[in-house]
Amino acid sequence: MTLETPIEFLKGIGPERAKFIKNVLGFSTVYDFLTFYPLRYIDKSKVHLIADLKGDFENEIQLKGKVTDIQEVVYGKGQKRLTAKFRDQSGTLEIVWFRYSKWMKEQIPLNQEIFIFGKINEFNGNLSMPHPEIEVDEKKAISGSLLPIYPGSEKLSKRGINNKFFQTVLVEILKNLPNLTQENLPETLLKKLKLIGRLQALYNIHFPKDVFHFKHAEKRIKFEEAFFFQLGYGLKKQHHKTSVIGNPFPKIGDNFNHFYNHQIPFELTNAQKRVLKEIRTDMKKPIQMNRLLQGDVGSGKTMVALLAMLIALDNGFQSCFMAPTEILAQQHFNSLQELLEKSEIKVRLLTGSTKTSDRKIIHQELFSGELSILVGTHAVLEDIVQFKSLGLAIIDEQHRFGVAQRAKLWAKNKIPPHILVMTATPIPRTLAMSFYSDLDVSVIDELPVGRKPIITAHRREKDRLTIFRFAKEEIEKGRQIYFVYPLIEESEKLDYKNLLENFDHILEFYEGYNVTMLHGRMKPAEKEMAMKYFASGDAQIMVATTVIEVGVNVPNASVMIIESAERFGLSQLHQLRGRVGRGAEQSYCILVTSDKLSSDTRTRMKTMVETNDGFKISEVDMKLRGPGDILGTQQSGVVDFKKLDLITDSTIIKVAKSAVEDLLTADPHLEHSANFELRTYYGKQYKGKNKWGRIS
Ligand code: ADP
Ligand code: MG
Repeated sequence: MTLETPIEFLKGIGPERAKFIKNVLGFSTVYDFLTFYPLRYIDKSKVHLIADLKGDFENEIQLKGKVTDIQEVVYGKGQKRLTAKFRDQSGTLEIVWFRYSKWMKEQIPLNQEIFIFGKINEFNGNLSMPHPEIEVDEKKAISGSLLPIYPGSEKLSKRGINNKFFQTVLVEILKNLPNLTQENLPETLLKKLKLIGRLQALYNIHFPKDVFHFKHAEKRIKFEEAFFFQLGYGLKKQHHKTSVIGNPFPKIGDNFNHFYNHQIPFELTNAQKRVLKEIRTDMKKPIQMNRLLQGDVGSGKTMVALLAMLIALDNGFQSCFMAPTEILAQQHFNSLQELLEKSEIKVRLLTGSTKTSDRKIIHQELFSGELSILVGTHAVLEDIVQFKSLGLAIIDEQHRFGVAQRAKLWAKNKIPPHILVMTATPIPRTLAMSFYSDLDVSVIDELPVGRKPIITAHRREKDRLTIFRFAKEEIEKGRQIYFVYPLIEESEKLDYKNLLENFDHILEFYEGYNVTMLHGRMKPAEKEMAMKYFASGDAQIMVATTVIEVGVNVPNASVMIIESAERFGLSQLHQLRGRVGRGAEQSYCILVTSDKLSSDTRTRMKTMVETNDGFKISEVDMKLRGPGDILGTQQSGVVDFKKLDLITDSTIIKVAKSAVEDLLTADPHLEHSANFELRTYYGKQYKGKNKWGRIS
């Protein structure tokens, strides 16, 4: 047997079952079983006394005693249950069966020492154990270790692939363990971090003697996962730093200085200053920058981007600023133009709907170097768009750009431009670091002063009239309002109808005010008109779908009403909410849902009401959905740690990261003999498997 042995050759499996298991669980080799870790454990190593049972009835326990007085009790509308007394040396409790057969009634051994195993219920101080497992043989009843419970399903157990099956297979595999695998971490590291060996950990994760042994096994396995992941990250980064050259920007010149000293309309936050310094330090070097800038909605990422572009300009390079949608590109263009109004710096916008005649001018100016900053959508990636010297590319909301597109961007200059990726979907740092594994991460963790936290409320559909009235009062004070409706692809038609109907209601209720609408089916020019109508303040109400999710900036809008809020994910709700609270006025976000809510939905609403902190929200979101789902990688099985939890195990990840840094400092190419096993294992199990760390 080796780790690669197909499972059909394991005792008691065979080709047919192997096929079934492969279909349901995706297992094909011994390795898959070995790393199929238990969900939880049950403890049959001890026998408890009835008199000692109190308080914690979470876990199953084992008792030893005698059964007496079996009785059938009729209750309710002719329903029956079977009860019996169970007595040990210290007391008695009741055993109950709500489902049973005649046959069973006769099989229960009476007045004889037996073992029962199950969960305890307490009702009015009386203890009972429903549906216990019964065992007569002491040798079988008491086990020397905790027993693993594996994640199973009804589908599997119908074919006999139940917990017992998994236990048997694993006992068999573990017998061969020393031949299957060996230690893959250096001895010195294990000693230093007080980690147990690999074989011991694998054995103990399946059949731990007790909780203490389990904890150590779990710690070692988690560490190993974190370590090899970080190693991949470290090696890739090392490679990048030595091989991907970039244009150094050593100068801070007139463009930057003049703007910084005279034209910024506010004081930068400390976080903005810190992040700018990080970017500046990167761009000084003759190595391509690859940096992710995370900052909550409204934290002022655009200003940081502009300052970085001014540094590029001072060093004789052009910049391009890409956004995922036309609306966003237009907005960035507007705000950059406004900020640069008093300067000579030329900025232009290029999107799918830019006129041919304008395109020609843009192409010429880019090529001659006259144009310093190009803002746009994917359109800037087209081959015909050629820069004289592209030095910096800023990508807003990166997750909508693919790897191929990034490659195009790189090819736009002989020496690839520095890359700054900006995202408002804050994810915990350890996760960001792991997920965007070839990016350095900067975080703006502070909002500009004077922002009033948005007040968020959760309301039901029946409160709609009150909500509408509240919004009207705000409009009367001079504010503007967003109404947001969900639009889900599968039922796009229905949703669209829904949007139009609601639009009519709103027109009726808010007679005398101007209402505008924005949705995905409109043409770019129509969208732009609708946006302008609202941004100028001519329209008081914007009825929209999630098209307005990212980036839209209308500071006078102070109320956002999100209809059918249960249909939005947490991060989406947070992004939407970020459209208000951008001005000096108190802002409100009202989440409207139906009455019947799942517990997940309730958690989502509660979280939104309780906090405005994007990092906290994203942590809750991760817990609810799992990181894979959030990062859009669930199909590719990318975040596929078996034991490691990117959120709760951040300490382990940190320790692993620093261990890897030490390792690569001492032995950058893993050539020392002490690192031989580690290198071999990495090459076999990990190399090439985490390419996904690129921007996607
Ligand atoms: P985001 O990070 O969501 O892209 P923006 O860059 O759009 O945020 O900034 C949101 C608003 O905050 C803008 O109106 C911007 O001018 C303003 N802003 C940015 N930095 C500061 C600051 N340091 N002090 C005050 N206002 C700021
Ligand atoms: Mg932004």
